[in-house]
Amino acid sequence: NDHTTRSTGSSDSVKERYGHALMNTFGPPKLVLTKGEGPYVWDADGNRYLDLLGGIAVNALGHGHPALVSAVSEQLSTLGHVSNFFATEPQVGLAERLLALLGVEGRVFFANSGAEANEAAFKLTRRTGRTHVVSTEGSFHGRTMGSLALTSKAQYREPFEPLPGGVTFVPYGDADALAAAVTDETAAVVLEPIQGEAGVVLPPEGYLQAAREITTAHGALLWFDEVQTGMGRTGAWFAHSSSGVTPDLVTLAKGLAGGIPIGACVAVGEHGAMLQPGNHGTTFGGNPVAAAAALAVIDTIEKEGLLANATEVGAVLQDGLADPRVTEIRGEGLLIGLDLTEPVAGKATAAALAKGFIINDCAPDRIRLAPPLVLTAEQAGEFLAAWPAILDDAYAADPGTAP
Ligand code: PMP
Repeated sequence: NDHTTRSTGSSDSVKERYGHALMNTFGPPKLVLTKGEGPYVWDADGNRYLDLLGGIAVNALGHGHPALVSAVSEQLSTLGHVSNFFATEPQVGLAERLLALLGVEGRVFFANSGAEANEAAFKLTRRTGRTHVVSTEGSFHGRTMGSLALTSKAQYREPFEPLPGGVTFVPYGDADALAAAVTDETAAVVLEPIQGEAGVVLPPEGYLQAAREITTAHGALLWFDEVQTGMGRTGAWFAHSSSGVTPDLVTLAKGLAGGIPIGACVAVGEHGAMLQPGNHGTTFGGNPVAAAAALAVIDTIEKEGLLANATEVGAVLQDGLADPRVTEIRGEGLLIGLDLTEPVAGKATAAALAKGFIINDCAPDRIRLAPPLVLTAEQAGEFLAAWPAILDDAYAADPGTAP
């Protein structure tokens, strides 16, 4: 029958079937991917692309890294048990490793995505006995009902209201607005140390420290959502590492296991005891395969010096992206955003794809790069060599005729 004889063939065939089989939550797929190697991926028609988005800040080691492949396959052939009843060495080992990287004592709850890590943290904040959370304008924290309640974008929220209440939004990077919004009723302040989906928006110097002082003064928790910025992306283990601030909660996901689904909610010190048996759970959280993958990613970042690489190659990219049509380039390590003089970011993304480069338009005039941490300066150079021509196409009257 049809189900046993379906083709594995061309991009067109898969795209056509996708349109009938998948819910249309992201619109039609731009590519049908078949394989990856390092920072490159190939489509079903044999075209190669340099993925400067790294999935979406997920494939930290690129594709097919032997350390990740062997960690996953060894763990899966040894033990793939998934439940909440038992413990495994990789699960406990990963929790210890994350706490050590954060330089804190505390406890970790493992989930399977960024939204779920945030959901756990949001629930934990309710255990303070307070129900009010302060979030920021431009923030993105996920699409579950709870994480969506913390996310500012009206377009994402409105179709699903009423969302869990008690959330107030203040302008990002404005310490005075934060000070005015936080009261003795505030359970937590949730912040991305650099806003990712908003287009790589960095707060002013001193903002994270101010957030720490304000929350401490009111007995509120300070929660950093490092789902996008964490695990080496910024050239440090965490985007808040250099601030000297110790938060109460940190949420992680995306790059943590290099492409295997995982999320983590880290609660510092005594806050680690706020969720107790019966309060929360998830079947797959902390499963040994995902945990082994994350440990392999962390080991590889250390062994291959990928934090320094992110800083070095990030600087190469930031320098090389300069162009009269680019008004601002910003970022840390391999999380880079730039603004264009005109709202042609979508056209630039399409032009880049036509030339074999995956980038992301996160606003009409805004582009984001979040490539694998293994990206070399030479590979970055392949993109930079094409960048002026990508902009030419984006700014051309009819980009449809671009080669
Ligand atoms: N928080 C931040 C800062 C994110 O960037 C994202 C994903 N873009 C999420 C949470 C949600 O993560 P997930 O898609 O894994 O649910």
